[in-house]
Amino acid sequence: MSRDHYDDLTIVRYGHPALREKAVPVRRVTDSVRRLIERMVELMRAARGLGLAANQLGIPQRVAVVEIDDRFTPLIDPEIVSATGSETGEEGCLSLPRLYGNVPRPTRVVVRARDLFGKRIKLTADGMMARALCHEIDHLNAKLFVDRADESSLYWLMGHTEEGEPITQQTTLEDALKVFVAARPSEK
Ligand SMILES: [Zn+2]
Repeated sequence: MSRDHYDDLTIVRYGHPALREKAVPVRRVTDSVRRLIERMVELMRAARGLGLAANQLGIPQRVAVVEIDDRFTPLIDPEIVSATGSETGEEGCLSLPRLYGNVPRPTRVVVRARDLFGKRIKLTADGMMARALCHEIDHLNAKLFVDRADESSLYWLMGHTEEGEPITQQTTLEDALKVFVAARPSEK
């Protein structure tokens, strides 16, 4: 495939306006939607993420991808139709690199979406997959994991020791967000 403008898309960070814009439904799954998904998968894998939403590429369309245990799930116009249970677990986000915190999520969700051919699908997910789906659908609704995280659990991952132990540093939400805003490139 020849180069196109999708190749120029990169993952935007906290402070980019698209992360706070509610994404609009795609409705028709065209080749350009499939091409967008292809690029999202590339970027997600390169960044070793479990999921990515189109807002994170600066495109507020209701498109997301999730990949857990080598199972790839594209999500087009996804909607949570039911959620049950609650479980707190750790999350991070490719748009807030190195920041982690505990977020309560449903233990099971049922999601309605469209597949790559525009056909309506329904999926039921538990545990980690349910968490990832909620995180990505939150992005499409302009929400970030830090909006829901227990603030006392927030920390920076600074690196790892030689033994592979994580080196962490606690932070407040306010301080963490300042770091991202200060690091933002100036934009037109
Ligand atoms: Zn995220």
